[in-house]
Amino acid sequence: MCIDLHIHTTFSDGLLTPEQVVNKAIKLNLKAIAITDHDTVDGIRPALNKAKNYTEFEIVPGVELSTDWNSEEVHILGYYIDYNDSNLKTVLLSFQQKRMKRVDKIIARLKNMGIDISIEDVCAKSKGSSLGRPHIALVLVEKGYVCSVQEAFKDYLSKGKPAYVPKEKLTPFSAIDIIKQSSGIPVLAHPGLLEDDSIINELISYGIMGIEVIHKNHNKAQVDYYTRLALDNNLLLTGGSDSHGETPLLLGSFDVPLNYFYKLKAIKKFLQYE
Ligand SMILES: [Zn+2]
Ligand SMILES: [Zn+2]
Repeated sequence: MCIDLHIHTTFSDGLLTPEQVVNKAIKLNLKAIAITDHDTVDGIRPALNKAKNYTEFEIVPGVELSTDWNSEEVHILGYYIDYNDSNLKTVLLSFQQKRMKRVDKIIARLKNMGIDISIEDVCAKSKGSSLGRPHIALVLVEKGYVCSVQEAFKDYLSKGKPAYVPKEKLTPFSAIDIIKQSSGIPVLAHPGLLEDDSIINELISYGIMGIEVIHKNHNKAQVDYYTRLALDNNLLLTGGSDSHGETPLLLGSFDVPLNYFYKLKAIKKFLQYE
């Protein structure tokens, strides 16, 4: 138990603040962690500040971008991104604005059906994380319009239902571009969750630089398979818990070799000198 390169904080949908994540990681004696919130880099600075007095502990600044490809969700991790880069911040901000607009449209559709909820209600449910349909569903349950989140999706929010509004999609290829433009290392997250993994070869041709081989949802056969695939294609191997601050806490609970971190760091140095 040495490192954990996939962790969410309260800046996306995690339950622990970046400071709490750092405290837990140091208590667990981890050597390095990566903060990889969904579509935001705002949790990185507080984590770095918290960790600055610990010389034996390193934080990799990261992000996890959600993308769509052939109606599948594909997540791309970006390691060592320049989290101060103004272009990156503008791109991430535009994602937030698009999400907000989508929620507005869904609320308007619900209103036409006599269902009255406000954007404030929905924001309160998101607790600062990326706004989306699950938060609308929670408000519908709370206000008694439906009995469960599942019912909210089934009756109103799913594709083909009356309040459905399609999402504007980012492709995994654009995500790779965004990460590279902010000096980061793009890595395919949890490929084991893909139903159709034929995209992996396309991502490799396009320039993805690594594959997350160790993940909470990967079984041993998948770890072996993706490790072989990464090594055959000269790609980096990464791994992490994808911890969201759950109980029991997954943070640091997977055996991710320290060597993955060293190689990632070496590539970052190499890119800087290139
Ligand atoms: Zn993910
Ligand atoms: Zn994640």
